[in-house]
Amino acid sequence: MRTHIESLLKLQEIDLSIRDLNEKKTAAPVRVNLLTEKKNDIEQELDALNNNLQDAQRHKIDTEDELAIETEHLNKSQQKLMGIKTNREYQALQKEIEDIKVANKVREDEILKLVETIENLQQTIAQKRLAAEQIENELNAEQKILDSILAELDGQIQKLEADRNNCLPNIRKDLLARYNLLKDKRNGMVIATVNNPACTGCNINLPPQLFNELLKGNKLHTCPSCQRILYHPPIEKPSDAEQK
Ligand SMILES: [Zn+2]
Repeated sequence: MRTHIESLLKLQEIDLSIRDLNEKKTAAPVRVNLLTEKKNDIEQELDALNNNLQDAQRHKIDTEDELAIETEHLNKSQQKLMGIKTNREYQALQKEIEDIKVANKVREDEILKLVETIENLQQTIAQKRLAAEQIENELNAEQKILDSILAELDGQIQKLEADRNNCLPNIRKDLLARYNLLKDKRNGMVIATVNNPACTGCNINLPPQLFNELLKGNKLHTCPSCQRILYHPPIEKPSDAEQK
């Protein structure tokens, strides 16, 4: 029985290694995912900044157009002023001219502010573009590393799958059935090595009689608590050791 369990133990080791490698595969893209997130964030920021820039540029052109029209309006009004005869008309036009001047001063200030805003936005955008480029380069490098890690892990898994297939015909059907039944429930550990006198699967102490039976190694024994298949490695008898 012991050798049958040892064949199954080999299968369990292979399955645990495959599980371990698959967990590594799942964990491997952490860095790439983080950089992709960063890249998406910075691209969103750039979109927003570019929209703000376009708005400011459009607003500046509109204000410059208004200023040009109102400057012409002002010039015409000033020329008209020369030909005016009544005092009342003169005062009214003078008032209109003053109003245009005040409004144009507001427009000029607005244009100066917009020039500053546009310059600041252009600077920020240039910096962000540089940062985006760096992240992109980092991401490409990390992706290459990830690809080679995944290829390496896949290679190891393939090798283990082949080992597993070679191992299967050597396993007794009833043991394999029990293993498959318990595998998911016991987190992949169906065979528990016994560490005198405890089951290493659930840590309970085995009854002495069960333990003694187990040492003989000729029958299948399971843990009364966790139902795992119990395994005890063969014990070298002192007489054997002396003979060597
Ligand atoms: Zn147990």
